[in-house]
Amino acid sequence: MQSAGIASSSPFATVDRLAELLRWYADMGADAALDEAPHNRFEEADAPPPTFARLAAPPPAQAAPAPQRDFPAPRPPARPAAMAPSAAAVSAKALASAARTLDELRAALEAFDGCALKPGATQLVFEDGARGAPLMLVGEAPGADEDRIGKPFVGRAGQLLDRMLAACRLDRTQVYIANIVPWRPPGNRAPTPQETAACLPFVQRQIELAAPKLLVCLGGSSASTLLNLSEGIMRARGQWRDYDCNGRIIKTMPMLHPAYLLRQPLQKRQAWRDWREVMRAMGAMGET
Ligand code: URA
Repeated sequence: MQSAGIASSSPFATVDRLAELLRWYADMGADAALDEAPHNRFEEADAPPPTFARLAAPPPAQAAPAPQRDFPAPRPPARPAAMAPSAAAVSAKALASAARTLDELRAALEAFDGCALKPGATQLVFEDGARGAPLMLVGEAPGADEDRIGKPFVGRAGQLLDRMLAACRLDRTQVYIANIVPWRPPGNRAPTPQETAACLPFVQRQIELAAPKLLVCLGGSSASTLLNLSEGIMRARGQWRDYDCNGRIIKTMPMLHPAYLLRQPLQKRQAWRDWREVMRAMGAMGET
């Protein structure tokens, strides 16, 4: 791998130039500062990871120099490390199953520290739409717009989702929307299996409490997480599956993710076919 070091002869050798470069990265949408050395995030304190925006910010005013000491300064008390995955899973299951309402579930998530995504996100992105709606849509994870606004599917993919719902004569007052993971992964990367596993009991309980008649999994990550699919979304889409909601079976349609459809507009034809099938099933249940 090439070293990212900057030679002293480089045009970026001065602090001002480096800050300018970081600001440019931040403006271009890069929002996580990574380096080549691996880090054990479980041993880190719960401070959010460094971001380009913060690194590029002007340095704080210089504090007065600390007085000379002839003994080591006392170390601040160690902050608790983030939870190990097994402890997070136990805590998530206990918290999620204790929640008797969607409001209690949201509060439980606000109190849950077992997902490494939480410290780096602006806020929890829990739900949108109508609780108790017959149709529930589950996406993958919030993006930058969702993280800013606090609701799922409000960015470009969400606008396409709204247009697809409108084509089915539906809007957000008639569906309930959530994500597998309720905190934004940095840089819009996919959630890791550990992050997904830590959040899974919460979305499972969210589905149970919302009690929809039909589910739609938006994208391969949602479908494979909820349905344990062995095949990819391109094969699985368009075919009804059973989601086992604590013993109650909910018919579930895996579909292509709206963000994918923005990149591959020709695939909208398949998505339209799948939406029509969902509308047909809603009609058969007397829900349209
Ligand atoms: N993509 C998702 O999967 N969920 C959102 O909320 C936004 C984009």
